[in-house]
Amino acid sequence: MSLRYAKRMDNIKASEIRELLKLTQKPEIISFAGGLPAPELFPVEELEKVSSKVLEEQGTTALQYGPTEGYEPLRVEITKRMEKVGVECKPEDILVTSGSQQGLDFSGKIFLNPGDIVLCESPSYLGAINAFKAYEPEFIGVPTDENGMIMEELEDILKNNDRVRFIYVIPDFQNPSGRTWSIERRKRLIELANEHNVAIIEDNPYGELRFEGEYYPAIKHYDTEGRVIFLGTFSKIFCPGLRLGWVCAEEEVLNKFVLAKQGSDLQSSTISQMQVAKFLEEYDIEAHIENLKKVYKKRRDLMINTMKEEFPEEIKFTNPEGGLFTWVVLPEYMNARDLAVKAIEKNVAFVPGGSFFPNGGNENTLRLNYSSMDDEKIVIGIKRLAEAIKSMMKE
Ligand code: PMP
Repeated sequence: MSLRYAKRMDNIKASEIRELLKLTQKPEIISFAGGLPAPELFPVEELEKVSSKVLEEQGTTALQYGPTEGYEPLRVEITKRMEKVGVECKPEDILVTSGSQQGLDFSGKIFLNPGDIVLCESPSYLGAINAFKAYEPEFIGVPTDENGMIMEELEDILKNNDRVRFIYVIPDFQNPSGRTWSIERRKRLIELANEHNVAIIEDNPYGELRFEGEYYPAIKHYDTEGRVIFLGTFSKIFCPGLRLGWVCAEEEVLNKFVLAKQGSDLQSSTISQMQVAKFLEEYDIEAHIENLKKVYKKRRDLMINTMKEEFPEEIKFTNPEGGLFTWVVLPEYMNARDLAVKAIEKNVAFVPGGSFFPNGGNENTLRLNYSSMDDEKIVIGIKRLAEAIKSMMKE
């Protein structure tokens, strides 16, 4: 039997990352494949305490429906996070979502008709590409370099395509490349979006995880006409299991997101929102983030230094100043999917980079995550990966 599914499902395939993650559950595998925060840094005991307090002090509220826009004290706390990335806003500008992933899905729902064009960085976050695909757009991947999207290329594409609805960008420590946009490019993006009347979806889960280099404000900081929709999340600065993120946008746009949320799940979990709000009230989140940055920097250093020592010279990789990922470019003749098979045989996993390009190609690239493995595993894993790479090198 085969049921008759909607045409939009034709475009939606199982994510390669999800499939890989299933494989990497085996304990003997050292996995650089996921994007997981370090579990040993989750504030488990603190959350246990605040959870009891929430239930003792406001149990019935915690278990009741709440407003779609979100739990007010949490919205107030979120405005403080926005301040950290250089954006002044009011609680009314915030909608609490189930992770920033929900904000991505709603962006597609709100802006895209079939055949509309989404512009994104090339490469871009696979989870966003997949979320948008449900709305049947076409994708144009805008070429990038070490300073972000190349603005001349973007300008050309905007001039030649009038069906562009939004530009999707991850300006800080991008997933998958680890790259960060320069300030000039952030400003130029706003100018071009204003000129061509397109929205900007700024997806920024890693902005607060800068462990070295100069601080750059979010793209929304430079927004002059209210066309930047900022997606934030507690997943990487706190923990992903509670599934809490947010949209920060101007009133008219935010109202569309509120309507989308009402149709989707009415609201994010009241009790989770109250737990996080209580945690933020009683504990020092800034100190927690500082600690995360310290650990991630150490792991980044270890991964990069081991790659420098173990990888053949032809292999290039990024050295991110924050976030969770580094991006590796192999010689063109080498296919990262074939390498992944060899690597899994040696009990080490990563995500081949080809899947991060909306229109394919670039099969000689791969993404490595350094946040979720301890020091010893990083060194052993990179050594194993180096062996797999060497076995595929041409003389
Ligand atoms: N955007 C990017 C760029 C991500 O890397 C992720 C998670 N890996 C998400 C969005 C989704 O995060 P969440 O839904 O947990 O907030």
